[in-house]
Amino acid sequence: MEPSADETVTGAAYGGSRLTGDLEAPGEYAFDGRGELATQPGVPPEPAPEDSEILEAIEAQGDWMTEILARLVRARTTLGNEEAGQAVMRFTLREDLHLEPVDVLMDAEALRAHPQAAPFDWSLEGRSNVVAIWGPDGSGEISGRSLILNGHIDVVSPEPLGQWGAHEPFGADRDGEWMIGRGAADMKCGLAAIVGAVRGLRSLGLAPRAPVTIESVLEEECSGNGTLQTLLAGYTAEAAVIAEPFGAAITTSQVGVLWFSVRITGVPGHAAEGRNATNAIEKSLAVIGALRGLESDLNAAPPAPYDLFAHPINLNVGTIRGGDWPSTVPGECVTGYRIALYPNMTLDDLKARIEALVAEATADQPGSAEVYYNGFASHGYELADDHELVTTLAGSFARQAGVPPALVATTGTTDASVFGNVAGIPAVCFGPFAEAAHGVGERVYLPSVIQTAQVMGLFIRDWCGLSR
Ligand SMILES: [Zn+2]
Repeated sequence: MEPSADETVTGAAYGGSRLTGDLEAPGEYAFDGRGELATQPGVPPEPAPEDSEILEAIEAQGDWMTEILARLVRARTTLGNEEAGQAVMRFTLREDLHLEPVDVLMDAEALRAHPQAAPFDWSLEGRSNVVAIWGPDGSGEISGRSLILNGHIDVVSPEPLGQWGAHEPFGADRDGEWMIGRGAADMKCGLAAIVGAVRGLRSLGLAPRAPVTIESVLEEECSGNGTLQTLLAGYTAEAAVIAEPFGAAITTSQVGVLWFSVRITGVPGHAAEGRNATNAIEKSLAVIGALRGLESDLNAAPPAPYDLFAHPINLNVGTIRGGDWPSTVPGECVTGYRIALYPNMTLDDLKARIEALVAEATADQPGSAEVYYNGFASHGYELADDHELVTTLAGSFARQAGVPPALVATTGTTDASVFGNVAGIPAVCFGPFAEAAHGVGERVYLPSVIQTAQVMGLFIRDWCGLSR
């Protein structure tokens, strides 16, 4: 997940008092007030487990979820190094949930051939997503709606390390009811909540009435190609919930994101004759200026719901590499950028605007300017607030929290756009309450991990149905 700039969702509802027993939540469900399966023709209604039974069984997994989360956080799963984390997920799915995890290997050729895959110049060799299906019981009869519970195992770099103070970025340190560490928030807490929900329901001897596919994917932080790879491998469902840490909220709209780089060449030379040379680093500054202009144009008249944000579209100058000798005028500079686009925009239009601006900003200087793409190339994605996925999940949330969740837009991208735009699978994000994702001192509020798992437990009942 890319952290949202200025979206505020209080944690108050999350950590507030929790109601047990029935509570009629907003929206329509396939279940009556008592949570009983009432609409499946030919299937004798079976009393679905009560809220309290599910809530208590999942709460009982609290310490276990915290332990799994600590193990995941201690695995330094930056890009290319995800195996240590996938090993924890495989073990947990097999030994603790008694499921059969499957490795879905990244296939560079298949991804490069896919029109909606993000471009990449890094190796995918031997790297795999981990998937396990928790199916209906032995009968195999499906009488509910299938579901994907998805989370990414990859985390962004913890640099600058020096700013973490007393905490080691991968230490999983505790500070009261908080756990600190890279990935604690984004989004290993969500993976812990997913497996905690399933373990709690299994402890009651329950099974879903339709397949629940649990996914621990790669590359959410740079391409979305991990989730895409699972789709190419045939994993699908009638809905997907991604356990990203949005707190007491469900995402119903997200921007698209484009990563691009600009390679600027100048004319290298001796600093003593600076005027006869063209400084590629300084030439890049003109490009940054021009792109800042594009950014402010895109923020001038945001479409709803992005008009609720002070600055929904953010250009980030994330990396720069130029020059290797102070007394030499640098002949090349490569700058890496991230920019966002509204759901009503296309990547092709945005790329054309960027390329035109770069050409214009460098036209009057010797040397060249090249724009190239590597990583994120996702369109925005939206799901209607009254979509049954949203209303059902909102209902499950309200049964746990006693209040409805916020329905929010985010100024970052998530794998919901892969599910929605590539496979037409309705997808939302819902997860724990956390702070400082991508920042130093990243942390998650542990009680909200349990509550996320509890809501997911109720949601599995409300969406898939449960049988003993
Ligand atoms: Zn994330």
